[in-house]
Amino acid sequence: MSSHAVQIVSIGSEEDDYSFNLDEDALNSIISKCPPKMKVATISCVGAFRTGKSAFLSWTLRFLRETSISSSSSVRSSNNGDGEWWKRGGKLSEGEKFDWRGGSERHTQGIWMWSEHFIRRGANGEKVCVILVDTQGLFDNETTMSLTASIFGLSTLLSSVSIYNVSKLIGEDSLQHLALFSEFAKAALNSDNSEKQITRPFQRITFLVRDWQNFTIEEPSSDEDFNSMEEEMDDYIKGVIAARDAKDLKDTREQIAACFDKIDAYLLTHPGLAVAKKTFDGDPDKVDSTFFNLLDRFLKRTFNQELEPKRIHNKHLTASELFEYVKAFAEVFSS
Ligand code: GDP
Ligand code: MG
Repeated sequence: MSSHAVQIVSIGSEEDDYSFNLDEDALNSIISKCPPKMKVATISCVGAFRTGKSAFLSWTLRFLRETSISSSSSVRSSNNGDGEWWKRGGKLSEGEKFDWRGGSERHTQGIWMWSEHFIRRGANGEKVCVILVDTQGLFDNETTMSLTASIFGLSTLLSSVSIYNVSKLIGEDSLQHLALFSEFAKAALNSDNSEKQITRPFQRITFLVRDWQNFTIEEPSSDEDFNSMEEEMDDYIKGVIAARDAKDLKDTREQIAACFDKIDAYLLTHPGLAVAKKTFDGDPDKVDSTFFNLLDRFLKRTFNQELEPKRIHNKHLTASELFEYVKAFAEVFSS
């Protein structure tokens, strides 16, 4: 069967509209195929509905298939270098669409994992098994606060990098959501006294800002141009999370800093008007090239230069070790 998104956490059951359900068999169907001794890196995407998360994940799938050492599906894993990987294969196919239809319906709320894993080389040269995760129903006004916090919490706990997708800028509301939900998850974890107390439970959060309009250079054409754009990104995130005097702004920032080991941001430009249309058919020729060039740099950083396995209590985990943690965490959120 070709690869596809698998729902591992769903919301609601026949008895309880608001239950939080981990599907252990579904999760195990993916975990059990990972090489048993290899460390695992889980990259998840969180953020509001219709901010381009699925589109990002679909291009990411193409990147991973085109540039990984191998993948668990036999689909086009070519590993033939970089080049313009986004053009290979033409339009995005069904098997690359990470929930292309969008998820406004209730039963799609929860956490989804791509059935196929990818073997890559991590930052320290070791092979790492990469898994992709999508979330549905965060900040959509349909999901209760406590369920939102649980979905956010579990997806963040299982991730080595949580990509927080936002449109146009990192607003105070996005920061407040992040602070609130990460505090909630941290408190839930630490309410369980049998576990070792986790002081800073989450590994890394990367704000992925879409449709960024404020780069000094508008038509980059060289590596130096892109390097200087990345310097602007670092300056931007430093400014966003820099200490503030006002108490509420200060509290938000301190809460976030207390939960994550690393916070950074990457800014993508608008992909072009064709993409924003409902009729967009996944044709890379219709996407702006600066968008792809930035995306390419972001993906290489995330899945090559800075790829680190999932770490809990200072130990890198294999997929089956991660599975045990996820079961324990899910118990905390469903009780
Ligand atoms: P999701 O609900 O967050 O998964 O969003 P989707 O990926 O389904 O995208 C929602 C809509 O925005 C679709 O019509 C996409 O074609 C479009 N879209 C995708 N990426 C971008 C982007 O970077 N900028 C803009 N403005 N639109 C995008
Ligand atoms: Mg989506």
